[in-house]
Amino acid sequence: LLDLPLELILEIISYLPPASQACFALTCKPLYNCFSYVLKDEALCFPRLLNNLNPLISLNQKHVARNQFLLLLQNRRWKYCAACLKLHPRKEFPRGLRSLTPSITRKCAPFAGILDLCACTSLTPRGMERLVRSLQGAICERDQRYPILGAEPDGRYQFSRDDQGNRTLTHTCSTPRQSKIACRLEMTISADGADSLVVRTYYHYRFRKTPTVAIWCKKIPTCPHRDL
Ligand SMILES: [Zn+2]
Ligand SMILES: [Zn+2]
Ligand SMILES: [Zn+2]
Repeated sequence: LLDLPLELILEIISYLPPASQACFALTCKPLYNCFSYVLKDEALCFPRLLNNLNPLISLNQKHVARNQFLLLLQNRRWKYCAACLKLHPRKEFPRGLRSLTPSITRKCAPFAGILDLCACTSLTPRGMERLVRSLQGAICERDQRYPILGAEPDGRYQFSRDDQGNRTLTHTCSTPRQSKIACRLEMTISADGADSLVVRTYYHYRFRKTPTVAIWCKKIPTCPHRDL
């Protein structure tokens, strides 16, 4: 196949569905160098519900391109999680579920799922556990083996201390997709004594134009539980 002219390979790849295109790009280094752009396709990105506002790609269903891709990537070590919509190491699943259960129904824990905190931050149980340990001081935030919120170089997340001296993580961001209303949110994340995360979010809304009746009639998605 690699002896074919690049134009022909491009023609062939254009007939493949996104999940197969992505697997093709991961076949070997020369193909990765040519086709790694397909891995950045929005359809294959982690479904951040408050960013893409498309509940369909957050579903655990076989027709979703990202899920098809992850199911194809499964191997002896990595397995698809039906709750987190990610691959986890096989040993993180309950022992009885590791091999017999169909992949599309296998969850790493009965309560597992995706928690959307804002348009750019979604946590799964693994991420939450790491974040709790980090806030409790059990992980150094610079430890590269545990990439967590706060380790990103862009400074969107900042560690600080509250009045009682407890470690907290603060985050500010805005919702990019609503053109008429600007929403900026300020979030403070801390850990309580019961190993749970406590998240406080303040939402600041500003109308870019004088509000009209049309705006008031339209629902504005804000946090995961409520439209405005
Ligand atoms: Zn999971
Ligand atoms: Zn954010
Ligand atoms: Zn809410």
